Amino acid sequence: MRITDVTLHGVQTPRRYATVCAAPGGGADATVECSRHYLLELHTDVGLTGIGEVSDVEMVPVYTPGYVPPRDALLETYRWWLVGRDPFDRGRLHAERPLNGLAAAAADMAVHDLLGKAAGVPVYKLLGGMTNPRPLLCWVAFIRDDLRALREELAEKVAAGFRAFKLKVGVDLDLDDERLAVAREVAGPHAELKIDASGAWDVPGAIAAIERLQRHGLAGVETPVPVGQVEDLAAVRRAVDVMILEHANEFELALRMIRADAVDVINTYVGGVGGIYPLIKMLALCEAAQVGVLLGSTLELGVGTAAQLHVAASTATLALSSDLIGPAMYTDDVITEPFVYADSTLRIPQGPGLGVELDRDKLEQLAWPGV
Ligand SMILES: [Mg+2]
Repeated sequence: MRITDVTLHGVQTPRRYATVCAAPGGGADATVECSRHYLLELHTDVGLTGIGEVSDVEMVPVYTPGYVPPRDALLETYRWWLVGRDPFDRGRLHAERPLNGLAAAAADMAVHDLLGKAAGVPVYKLLGGMTNPRPLLCWVAFIRDDLRALREELAEKVAAGFRAFKLKVGVDLDLDDERLAVAREVAGPHAELKIDASGAWDVPGAIAAIERLQRHGLAGVETPVPVGQVEDLAAVRRAVDVMILEHANEFELALRMIRADAVDVINTYVGGVGGIYPLIKMLALCEAAQVGVLLGSTLELGVGTAAQLHVAASTATLALSSDLIGPAMYTDDVITEPFVYADSTLRIPQGPGLGVELDRDKLEQLAWPGV
């Protein structure tokens, strides 16, 4: 099988509400009302088409520093990289990849979609088979100062079956304390509650905040200090009695955190590490180091969520709930059978490849010309 051409569709999807997180070092980060994505198709000489997704393209600079790929440049890069190649050569494709993070992940998803379709099996079968049929997913509640709106949001999610939640915190400690009280009350005593401070705190601030917020029964605290400040993270972890969670999109950062005993659970995901293939290596690294793992998110559409679900379904070692909320946070999706949450999880697609199909009408309705 050879890849013969690449197509790229830009789409934009509003979020259900304007989302706010803390900024690294403190204060509030930019409000996000709408996300833009590229859907990638890889065409082949055997008539199969593989699909992938650059989820939330504004996030791409985070993973490819200083570089926002314009649509045409991105398409040309994909063509240069992938046309003429055999999608079975995953190792070589990754070794020679000219893109990182979300942009590389889109190609990797489409490659896995092709391999699954060629073999007539869902992608999870290529990754070790079904070991985790009902991966626990949490609802992520962004920072809102309207406690009534938060209560409504969480009550709706509890009614929809969610029993794990992550609250973004870090802008206003008093508000965080009140929000967590609402979350615990609405979600009940047994719900898993994580918080994510997005790096807003310094070491003493993190310790004080965690000691105060811990009364709500926290399953984990993510990114208490800015990502990459490994010694600070280790200092926070030594001082508190709650699991510390941190993102790692590069092996080097994961190793530094493991060596410094800085982390209990590593948050990693398909888009962050550049695809399913490198993610499987990251999961193996965490397993060998006996560090927990959960799947994070940059708010994927249905294609990116499917890719993550295949990894989740074949990973028996997920330590805490994973953050795959894209399909419920956007008002629309681009797949023919959008995902529906039930019992704090999503069904694992069973069709060949990623098991989801692009809805051509949606691609047109949601079209975005790209940068
Ligand atoms: Mg996070």
